[in-house]
Amino acid sequence: MSRIIALDTYDVRFPTSRERDGSDAMNPDPDYSAAYVVMRTDHSSLSGYGLAFTIGRGNDVQKAAIDALNHHVAGLDLDEVIDDLGGFARRLIGDSQLRWLGPEKGVMHMAIGAVVNAAWDLAARAAGKPLWRFIADMTPEQLVATIDFRYLSDALTPEEALTMLHAAAPGKSRRLQQLLAEGYPAYTTSPGWLGYSDEKMQHLAREAVAAGFRTIKLKVGMNVEDDVRRCRLARETVGPDIAIAVDANQRWDVPDAIAWLHHLSDVNLAWVEEPTSPDDILGHASIRRAVSPVPISTGEHTHNRVMFKQLFQAQAIDLVQIDAARVGGVNENLAILLMAAKYGVRVFPHAGGVGLCELVQHLAMADFIAISGKKDDRAIEFVDHLHEHFVDPVVIANGCYIAPNAPGFSAQMHTGSVEEFRYPDGQAWCEPAHTARAS
Ligand SMILES: [Mg+2]
Repeated sequence: MSRIIALDTYDVRFPTSRERDGSDAMNPDPDYSAAYVVMRTDHSSLSGYGLAFTIGRGNDVQKAAIDALNHHVAGLDLDEVIDDLGGFARRLIGDSQLRWLGPEKGVMHMAIGAVVNAAWDLAARAAGKPLWRFIADMTPEQLVATIDFRYLSDALTPEEALTMLHAAAPGKSRRLQQLLAEGYPAYTTSPGWLGYSDEKMQHLAREAVAAGFRTIKLKVGMNVEDDVRRCRLARETVGPDIAIAVDANQRWDVPDAIAWLHHLSDVNLAWVEEPTSPDDILGHASIRRAVSPVPISTGEHTHNRVMFKQLFQAQAIDLVQIDAARVGGVNENLAILLMAAKYGVRVFPHAGGVGLCELVQHLAMADFIAISGKKDDRAIEFVDHLHEHFVDPVVIANGCYIAPNAPGFSAQMHTGSVEEFRYPDGQAWCEPAHTARAS
């Protein structure tokens, strides 16, 4: 019998704000960070890895929240966890004293997501499969058993989910071959950070098109004249056949969003992401109606499956961003993917952050094979930063994510990277300039 013996946590931060990588209208100086989790077993060669993504100082709080879950994990029988990933997640979510901090939202829910994802990583490693394949190989009954349907039954019942998964089953082996041969479409945000000069944006946009990307995304929302100029420049640079999306990162009130987007009406936007507060479901619906046919998207800051349910029910969005490290782990994302498939909303997974590309590709690929059966009308975000710190980094070829082969969820970081970027005592933070800035 094997046991989980420890839940180790690390505060890992990268000083990305120096180059304004990751900068947008709401987050001008992000230091991409991970509250990083290692779920150790009594097998020295078998551990599970997960992370919560933050952008700097929030990592103090995030790490403390993960540490608060330690008593739910240390000492557990390994097989009991990996054979009942639904029960494991429900026990963490059901801790009544910690649940008070949400419920099922914010720092504590993200902490649960990191730990639950580490358990899925462990399960996939124990099975010798990459996570996308581990999920795709589950029977419909096994997959549905991992999901907490509480609060969802007015939109999706377990019976409906089973019917959908059984209906998708006959095409699974064909889609598996298709995924291995073609990969999964990606789009890139790398040219579009708000702090970049016009020249840098144009240079990176040209590079992105040459590398095979069919969609680029620009950050907007600080100054309307700048946005009109940058979007028109981007359109001139990439031509009419490359899709351009914009991302306001929650910058606007509802009337501001509508007025602002009318200024951008000649750019032919592929979508507008996070136009307003992620909690404002009816606001998204109002914006969507007012700027139609411009597609509206949100999801990277959507707390949980209940909020996603309402976004779908209210017809508030055309596209949805799932995020591997925002909600309560793989289980909850499977519920969101099932609802998106039922409501016919295209999924464009969020991956702007350290490790998020590595993680979310697995969910999108599993969705293609086992749930929605679609990939060519959607794409996973790609940001070309910090992949070198991961043991199994994403591979992009001709604008597509190549399906990972290694067992697990691809969240494991190199030990040397964790040591170097550990805050505040890693070497990267001990240099004089960073010590001064961090104070
Ligand atoms: Mg975004």
